[in-house]
Amino acid sequence: MFAISEMSSMRQNDIIIIGAGGIGCAIARELSRYKLSITVLEKECDIAAGASGRNSAVVHAGFNNRPGSLMARLCVEGNQGFEDICRELDVPFKNTGKILVAFDDEDIRILKGIIAQGEQNGCEGLRMIGEEELKRLAPGVSGIAGMYSPHTSIFDPFAYCVALAENAAVNGVDFCFDSEVSSICRNDGGFIVRTADGRDFGCSILINSAGLGSDRISEMAGVSGYRIYPCRGEYFIMDKVADKLLDIPVYPAPKPGIGGLGVHLTPTMHGNILIGPSAEYIDDRDDYSSTAPIMDKLITEASELLPAIERRFIIGNYAGIRPKQAPPGEGGYRDFVIKEEETCPGLINLIGIESPGLTASMPIARMVRDIAEKKLDLVEKDDFIAERKTPPRFRDLTEEEQADLISEDPEYGEIMCRCQKVTKREIRNAIENPLGVRSITAIKYRAWATTGRCNGGYCLTRIVDMLVNEYGMKPEEITYRGKGGELFSGEVK
Ligand SMILES: Cc1cc2nc3c(=O)[nH]c(=O)nc-3n(C[C@H](O)[C@H](O)[C@H](O)COP(=O)(O)OP(=O)(O)OC[C@H]3O[C@@H](n4cnc5c(N)ncnc54)[C@H](O)[C@@H]3O)c2cc1C
Repeated sequence: MFAISEMSSMRQNDIIIIGAGGIGCAIARELSRYKLSITVLEKECDIAAGASGRNSAVVHAGFNNRPGSLMARLCVEGNQGFEDICRELDVPFKNTGKILVAFDDEDIRILKGIIAQGEQNGCEGLRMIGEEELKRLAPGVSGIAGMYSPHTSIFDPFAYCVALAENAAVNGVDFCFDSEVSSICRNDGGFIVRTADGRDFGCSILINSAGLGSDRISEMAGVSGYRIYPCRGEYFIMDKVADKLLDIPVYPAPKPGIGGLGVHLTPTMHGNILIGPSAEYIDDRDDYSSTAPIMDKLITEASELLPAIERRFIIGNYAGIRPKQAPPGEGGYRDFVIKEEETCPGLINLIGIESPGLTASMPIARMVRDIAEKKLDLVEKDDFIAERKTPPRFRDLTEEEQADLISEDPEYGEIMCRCQKVTKREIRNAIENPLGVRSITAIKYRAWATTGRCNGGYCLTRIVDMLVNEYGMKPEEITYRGKGGELFSGEVK
């Protein structure tokens, strides 16, 4: 809290959204259809810095969630509309289906229970498969039977969040990065939100989609009683050579109460396979470390599912943190909280948005819009731009299409990231992104450079060279992932 008299000059908005993860970006995009002034405040230097950029990238079907829960309803609805939103915003998406593997009779019993639960939730086409069909759909996978889900898909979560945010920005939403909310004060029935560097933003409706920080934001606004328990999930990324091993996500039959879906194998839109995630409660909400014991466990469990997995295929690792409401002793899941707080009119809290949050993001956004509609007059814009195009991805094109692009722009003929076949023009498109973010990770995830086997050994220096010599950045201004991650301290000569 702070005194109104201490306020700096303030920008007034209809709506402030705290957090530019997949949920904040989806809400921003949905609300950008209306004549509203909207600002998104994000503490990091780019979108999707939290769970939204660190997950399994699966569009879940909705059979894992308790019937009658918000999680179940919004996941099934999200799954049904996901391909359409990806088409509208030009986001990589692939309907792969998914298999849950049974190793014994107890697993088969669990999988039959999951089918019954999924049917109650409205999932279609779930069925048991025998060993023969299991081996046909996922050659090389162990197990004696399985459950097949036809409507599970994979997508690119970072590209999804970029697309939502860029489209929201094109439609007038203002994104402020490096803007950590540090206090909130009520004013004339609205809110004044202050950032850690002392800027003030006023609004009538405050939307708290701060993920791991959502309990703290709620507390700042005067609503206590929520607590987030961070639960880390570690992953390995396999080289593209492992790509031929699997083209469908494969999960073990879930064990009750583990708070995750078990260590699974998931092909990505970029041709790698992910192994993970683990599920481990931690104390520090910012601790994205990868730990040796968990990594050993991941390899062991993944090899049980797919014996051909070899350590030598591993090229990287990362971790995501689930914003759990269920404390360690309880395990499992508590339902999403999405509501306007009775004791704090105008505050819309989104708490505990763990998996399947990204799958459910558009229905969540529409639910928030419906709540906002009760407070504000939502008038649709005549000039709302619904569609968006991603710049061409050279490596995915036919030789003819590549030749056409090169003749239009010779920078498409200059490969800068050899592992992922990313051209200079694609790097330039990433540097010139509409949100104006310039960290190395911003370029990495937009162009997909530096993500191959050499981990940026070849292209990173070339990207830095472009930033310095073509975009006028000083070397010491270049960060890996925002402030505190400076790559250089100055020039050597
Ligand atoms: C290991 C793992 C695997 C998952 N797999 C899947 C999956 O396959 N499919 C699926 O649908 N879902 C999956 N999920 C869930 C999904 O990732 C989340 O539900 C979703 O990303 C939540 O989005 P969010 O915007 O609420 O949170 P986040 O993405 O965490 O965004 C919250 C944002 O708020 C910002 N913030 C926090 N505090 C402040 C502050 N004080 N001021 C300003 N900004 C602040 C953070 O920096 C962050 O950018 C997975 C999650 C994890 C962790």
